[in-house]
Amino acid sequence: MKKRIFYSIFLVTTVVLLAAFIIIMMVMYNQFTTEQLEQLRNEMKLVKRGVALEGEEYFKGLTTTDFRITWIDSDGEILYENKADPYSMQNHLEREEVQKAIKEGYGESKRYSSTLSEQQLFIAEKLEDDTILRLSTTMASIWSLFLRFSVFPITIFVLALAASLAFASRLSKNIVDPLISLDLDDPLSGRTSSYEELYPLLQRLQFQHDQIEKDRKELEKTSLIRQEFTANASHELKTPLHVISGYAELLENGLIKEEEIPGFAKKIGDETRRMTKLADDILNLSKLDSGATDMRREKLDLYAFAAQTIDDLSSIIDENDTDIRLEGDHVSIEGIPESVNSIIFNLVTNAIKYSGQGGKVTVSVREDGDNAVLEVEDNGIGIGEEDLERIFERFYRVDKSRSKELGGTGLGLSIVKHAARIHDAQVKVKSRLGEGSVFTVIFPKA
Ligand code: ADP
Repeated sequence: MKKRIFYSIFLVTTVVLLAAFIIIMMVMYNQFTTEQLEQLRNEMKLVKRGVALEGEEYFKGLTTTDFRITWIDSDGEILYENKADPYSMQNHLEREEVQKAIKEGYGESKRYSSTLSEQQLFIAEKLEDDTILRLSTTMASIWSLFLRFSVFPITIFVLALAASLAFASRLSKNIVDPLISLDLDDPLSGRTSSYEELYPLLQRLQFQHDQIEKDRKELEKTSLIRQEFTANASHELKTPLHVISGYAELLENGLIKEEEIPGFAKKIGDETRRMTKLADDILNLSKLDSGATDMRREKLDLYAFAAQTIDDLSSIIDENDTDIRLEGDHVSIEGIPESVNSIIFNLVTNAIKYSGQGGKVTVSVREDGDNAVLEVEDNGIGIGEEDLERIFERFYRVDKSRSKELGGTGLGLSIVKHAARIHDAQVKVKSRLGEGSVFTVIFPKA
């Protein structure tokens, strides 16, 4: 980068200096030629007056002059010539300036003189006796002008080059150093942020850095939750296994009386069902965790779904003698049937379980603007304020032994939360200890 900055500055300096030099040379050349013509005209006035006064005699007295003087009579014969041999010269009546002088009294021309092998400036004037007086001078070529005046510009050029070298090196250092010192962990700090042009880039870097940091923390949190979950799940699975193996041992060793066997067999059956439910819930959660991308969504009538779930739960409703009601309208949502079913199933089961014998449960489905709202209300034990925030955590139970007694796994509400999330639905809970709870799920309408 330093090299590129240096070359750019160097190139610009060279081009500017060269252009300035060429322009100056052209202006000077123009000025020089104008002055030469002026001098030639003045000399013409002098020579003309001299010839008018003294005739041919005038030239005899004329010893030193920078100009070439040619005097031609009206037939083209050379009467006087001071720089070349008159006999070797061609007829000069043909020359452009002479022709003009014959016709108009005065003529000028610029040309390469074959006689003197130089670029010449000519002026000719017709005298009163019809003879032609012609004066000429060698024009300074642009090259000779260049040689004469180039020392100064070349000195400037070399000095400017040296200055641009020093400047370019300093400038490129000033530009590049802050970039090198850029702290990628904290892009907005340090000298680099003083570059207005770089600010959007630095801001973006900072944003990406923050994002990566956030993702990293999120990942750490997720991995911690996973570890905790695995430990909890193993523990939860081990407990019923211990109970089952304990009972099996007692049976094996004949330590249980004949009449107690059916009771123990029921206990083994209960623990086995709990384990199966636990395994089902864990599988369900891990499916939801991975985003349930392979599960098909379809248009579902939320009311019909609730009715079906209540129907499926008829045995536990009867067992608990629950007064259950379904109210509301038919509202459709776009959903995954299994997941919507687990939401309703878990909420209604909890409402039945935690409202005890003869509890009152109301399930309602209604439309609210762009939403379909499912509400499950019970008049059960309720949840204390300090537990409300935690009940959606995996394996969190307000009263562990009560939950177990009721066949709970501690994963139901966690499944509800995840299933709601993949439907872009919101879950809310309102509860008061001893009075009952209301769980609300707000789905976007189909
Ligand atoms: P569980 O299998 O223990 O019911 P959940 O995840 O479904 O697990 O619920 C977590 C805890 O939240 C329950 O153990 C219970 O303490 C509390 N809970 C859930 N629903 C209700 C409710 N309707 N009434 C009172 N407490 C509830």
